[in-house]
Amino acid sequence: MTDHRPVPSRSASEEGVDHPTVRALRAAIAAPTIARDAGTDADASADLLAAETAAFDRLHAALAEHFPLLHGTLDLVRPAGHALLFRWRGRTDADPVVLMAHQDVVPIGDGSTWTYPPFAGVVADSPEGPAIWGRGALDDKGCLVAICAAVERLLGEGFVPQRDIWLSFGSDEEVMGITAEAAVDHLRDADVRPWFVLDEGGAVAADALPGITAPMAVIGVSEKGLALLELRAEGRGGHASTPARNGPVVRVATAIAALDRASMPVRLPEPSRELLRRMIPVLSGPMRRAVSMVDGPLAPVFTRALGMAGPEASAMARTSLATTMISGSPAPNAIAASASAIVNARIVVGDTIAGVVRHVRRVVGSGVEVRVIGGSEPSPVSPYRDDPAFDLLEKLTNSVFPEATPSPYLMLGATDSRHFTRICNRVYRFAPFPMSRAQRESVHSFDERLTVDGLLRGVEWYIALLRGIPE
Ligand SMILES: [Zn+2]
Repeated sequence: MTDHRPVPSRSASEEGVDHPTVRALRAAIAAPTIARDAGTDADASADLLAAETAAFDRLHAALAEHFPLLHGTLDLVRPAGHALLFRWRGRTDADPVVLMAHQDVVPIGDGSTWTYPPFAGVVADSPEGPAIWGRGALDDKGCLVAICAAVERLLGEGFVPQRDIWLSFGSDEEVMGITAEAAVDHLRDADVRPWFVLDEGGAVAADALPGITAPMAVIGVSEKGLALLELRAEGRGGHASTPARNGPVVRVATAIAALDRASMPVRLPEPSRELLRRMIPVLSGPMRRAVSMVDGPLAPVFTRALGMAGPEASAMARTSLATTMISGSPAPNAIAASASAIVNARIVVGDTIAGVVRHVRRVVGSGVEVRVIGGSEPSPVSPYRDDPAFDLLEKLTNSVFPEATPSPYLMLGATDSRHFTRICNRVYRFAPFPMSRAQRESVHSFDERLTVDGLLRGVEWYIALLRGIPE
């Protein structure tokens, strides 16, 4: 664990606090846009709904105040919920580019663990340098504000992009909501076929592996799929004084234990291999020798080793299975008449929902029913070899972050951009900010922060992108 408790100092507030982009991010963080889960919070009280609307209204007002040219020039569509979809008309009608960010944030968890109040937008020192602290600084208001700041700056210079630029800012990404899909529907109905789509995802990540000497700028080219399977066993139930053997709870528990021992086979998809290849030159000593095995006769040994090298490396190299929501007997003296659990599978590129179901059925055997209750297949892999759009992202990254090595990679988490694979075959996932390991761990946790320098470099990156988009 890294030390999460930096010592605040005066220098930070002096350094970045008055920069207009920093002020915009602070104002954005101050709007507590925690999205409501339409599934679990369906019966939310009127008060809760009003509070949610007030938070998003506050964010929209902050964006309008800090980015007046953007709001005065771009066309705005409201596809659903609190989502915003802006269109910046370009010089030509060539296929447009979509830049994405989501406005909603996850709850703060235990507020007492935060060094600074999570919705105050405090600027103070951090282990990474002067930073803007608060929920959403990295996920994903940093991107939201940096995109707007880049557009605002270019509008101020009278710049017109070569192609239409759409800005798609969903409002329910963290609760797997519908607003990004609604934006996709709008674009599809308008016959828009994006040249490429860019959403959050990768970052300029330091300390990606032990012994690495430079940051990796990882650009997601696909994301894992998801399957939710229900395991269920039925029985007679009855009183706890007269138990029968092998009841529903025992059968479900046995199935879970069997799944824990029977991982899906390791499988290292090509984007993950490419990431490892590109890491080799910046690895030192034994790690370099180990990762160099990714190609060549020892590749299968290497892949198996990766599958056993801790939860993160293992998740990269196979479909993972996690058991959640076990339930059974309703009372201390009642034998369960039925028991169930959920298997949450994160599916690696190359596997499918059907393949996961086959594996789980084979492992749990008879006596436990397996049923699919939801999911999505892994996203198609966007092109990254000799591809003009990916080359552009790589080139910009080299110029704004010369210390980093750009690479494609496979995302483990899910983003709203997966919906755009319906209308576009180039969907990339990258937040152009340097992030230490501690910063990455702060996402969905506590002490989330983006450095002032990182935010400003991110703006430069988006400006270079908008300028670099060809006819
Ligand atoms: Zn996010």
